[in-house]
Amino acid sequence: MADIPHRIDLNESEMPTVWYNLIPDLPVPPPPPLHPGTHEPVGPDDLAPLFPMALIEQEVTTQRYVDIPGEVLDVYRLWRPSPLFRAHRLEKELGTPARIYYKYEGVSPAGSHKPNTAVPQAYYNHAEGITKLTTETGAGQWGTALAFATAQYGMECEIWQVAASYRLKPHRRTMMQLWGATVHSSPSEVTEYGRQLLAENPDHTGSLGIAISEAVMMAAADPNVRYALGSVLNHVLLHQTIIGEEALLQLAKIGETPDVLVGCTGGGSNFGGLSFPFLREKLAGRMNPTIRCVEPAGCPSLTKGEYRYDFGDAVGMTPLMKMHTLGHGFIPDPNHAGGLRYHGMSPLVSHIYELGLVEAEAIPQLECFAGAMTFARTEGIVPAPEPTHAIAAAIREALRCKETGEEKVILTALCGHGHLDLASYEQYLNGTMVDLDLSQSAIDAAMAEVPVL
Ligand SMILES: *Cc1c(COP(=O)(O)O)cnc(C)c1O
Repeated sequence: MADIPHRIDLNESEMPTVWYNLIPDLPVPPPPPLHPGTHEPVGPDDLAPLFPMALIEQEVTTQRYVDIPGEVLDVYRLWRPSPLFRAHRLEKELGTPARIYYKYEGVSPAGSHKPNTAVPQAYYNHAEGITKLTTETGAGQWGTALAFATAQYGMECEIWQVAASYRLKPHRRTMMQLWGATVHSSPSEVTEYGRQLLAENPDHTGSLGIAISEAVMMAAADPNVRYALGSVLNHVLLHQTIIGEEALLQLAKIGETPDVLVGCTGGGSNFGGLSFPFLREKLAGRMNPTIRCVEPAGCPSLTKGEYRYDFGDAVGMTPLMKMHTLGHGFIPDPNHAGGLRYHGMSPLVSHIYELGLVEAEAIPQLECFAGAMTFARTEGIVPAPEPTHAIAAAIREALRCKETGEEKVILTALCGHGHLDLASYEQYLNGTMVDLDLSQSAIDAAMAEVPVL
């Protein structure tokens, strides 16, 4: 194995200086977001209370490449370019002829890919004179990333964390506070909506949709405060494309092209970030990888949701987005992959799934943790619960290769480490983790609330 690379690195000077926008390369553009009241396409003025103009422009830009500001590149250099690894030991353990590569984003200060967008979002808000950002967080990954990013520019940060993870992941909260953020359990006593939900049920486990509503309400009420979203939107996926651009350069260094690319999808940002540059190459006829989204069987928006206009939040304050949705009121069972517990999928990922440019599969929790344990025992890194889905999918693919004898090149993103998620691993190891049944009646009830357009 000595002559075959284990770790493929780029120099700082080889780091890409542009983000890639997939939209101009698509055969049809994605449907526009609609105003929640008028159902007309939203304009910049509708979004201005929540986002800075630079990000609103990136949301709708038809430019193929967007320059990364120097002040953002300077912060990226704290951990980028991130390494690409060849999973030799995992391959050997599986006995597969496939070659498995993973792009590791756990090297960032927050331990995931989220700072790739948190940093530019804080930067553009700061540049427009904003002093404070609000946001929601599920597992706590996005909250820690935004707390880190706002600290870089001397801004305040106020975060609503889904109650289920607030209780399960106290160390995430400590990290956010360490970087200077204020953290509330959501539903919270801070908003009228939160107080109402707590009055109905003091033990409410919360949901991302509810936490988004609370953070949006607080930002909309103050002109010096804006809101930041960690996934789903076009500008977020745009910022994450640095992952795929680096991976392309790294694979080119060793003369490899992927046959199969798998990524876990919560809102779609790490998946889009890794896969869009490869999809550009595929659409241009330069390579032909199969590209697959992997989601939890307990919150399967792509494989079980409907492609409809729906709200991004639980209350129905955000624009209506055409996306695969389980219904904005859907509250998934509190599974361990908190970052994948969102009722909808990024409109851009939904659109390319409808166009047949990518595939999707849902994998149950226990298979994911089994895969993650094999991964940790061979490759060493303990994955965050979300990318256990990507690893399980890579293992499924590698085992198919074992049967057919195909030497496929499999690429995935290990989008975060699981050092703050050991409570989930503890449950897996002591046998108390179960595969949760997806309640079709809960989906049906939530879908009945989705507006008919
Ligand atoms: C937030 C998060 C996810 C889910 O979000 P995407 O937008 O789908 O990437 C997945 N993995 C990790 C480690 C996360 O922090």
